[in-house]
Amino acid sequence: MNPPIVDKFGRVHNYLRISLTDKCNLRCNYCMPQEDMQFMPSAWLMSAGEIQTLAGIFVDMGVQKIRLTGGEPLVRKDVGTIIESLGKLPTSLTLTTNAVFIEQYISTLKNAGVRSLNISLDTLDEERFRSITKRDHFTKTLANIRLLLAEGFSVKLNMVVMRDVNVEEVNDFVRMTLTEPNLHVRFIEFMPFNGNQWDFSRIVSYNDLLSRISEEFIFAPLSGEPNDTARTFRVEGGQGTFGIISTITNHFCDSCNRIRLTADGKLKNCLFDTSEVDLLTPLRKGEDIRAIIYDHFQQKHFAHGGHTEFTNKDAKSEYEQNRRMIAIGG
Ligand code: SAM
Ligand code: SF4
Repeated sequence: MNPPIVDKFGRVHNYLRISLTDKCNLRCNYCMPQEDMQFMPSAWLMSAGEIQTLAGIFVDMGVQKIRLTGGEPLVRKDVGTIIESLGKLPTSLTLTTNAVFIEQYISTLKNAGVRSLNISLDTLDEERFRSITKRDHFTKTLANIRLLLAEGFSVKLNMVVMRDVNVEEVNDFVRMTLTEPNLHVRFIEFMPFNGNQWDFSRIVSYNDLLSRISEEFIFAPLSGEPNDTARTFRVEGGQGTFGIISTITNHFCDSCNRIRLTADGKLKNCLFDTSEVDLLTPLRKGEDIRAIIYDHFQQKHFAHGGHTEFTNKDAKSEYEQNRRMIAIGG
């Protein structure tokens, strides 16, 4: 066992998010550019074996939780093998997915010990789903969310709330938590990435959301876990919960424990930090990558990857140097 990955602010990093691919079967406009999206050539991607080796190294360095993400992790043909192999590690394993292909993986997930999944759904309206994702998978997505709940999985439903797109649906999502104990809706603030038409005015802040929800529901806060990103609540008499992930207006960087590995094997110490280091090339050369990992986390900024306020116009050009969300892994 190696020492844990600790940054200069004393934060222990024990949660690894691995992106399996930058490809996707949806085209969500807040996540990927609508035109000229260049996907990574397959040779750049970590193979299933390399993912297993890298995950094992991180587990030796104290990682206790692994999340598979993307792009859409389930578009990778060998995702079943990857889930199976990572399920054998002494960590919890979970996925973030758009659920379009999830019905094919129910038993693989169960066998690997996956109990909870994050599913993205930004609207309960079929036409709006098509307009956001540019694809016709609304009915299948909803059916698969119901299937996961029926199969006993805990589902965190992630909705990216955008003022000019879907904000009026917030209370419809909260209503779903009234009767479903395994459903946890999470409202995510729209975040800025390269080419996603982000603007501060499109964000619906933490306070705005709470005031909108309080127009219809009485709710109480729940006590959180140490590294929670969401502030969570339960509606009076409700079964599930809702939470708010306000990365921009009310950030949680002080308790950040996240490590990100992109599909091409680059290590990122923060979603917003444009610096990244290559782990895959030295791994392929048979070199020991532990020192690179420790060093990269020594460089980690305290908040937002060192960007100044996102309201500052100059900061905008800085974050636009970052990868697109789809190429980082959310
Ligand atoms: N394809 C999978 C999915 O959609 O769940 C996993 C990858 S996706 C990049 C991971 C998460 O990032 C999703 O919940 C998505 O809604 C969120 N996301 C993408 N772009 C975002 C943005 N600009 N602001 C906030 N959340 C974003
Ligand atoms: Fe694909 Fe997920 Fe990005 Fe939508 S949010 S385009 S489903 S990776």
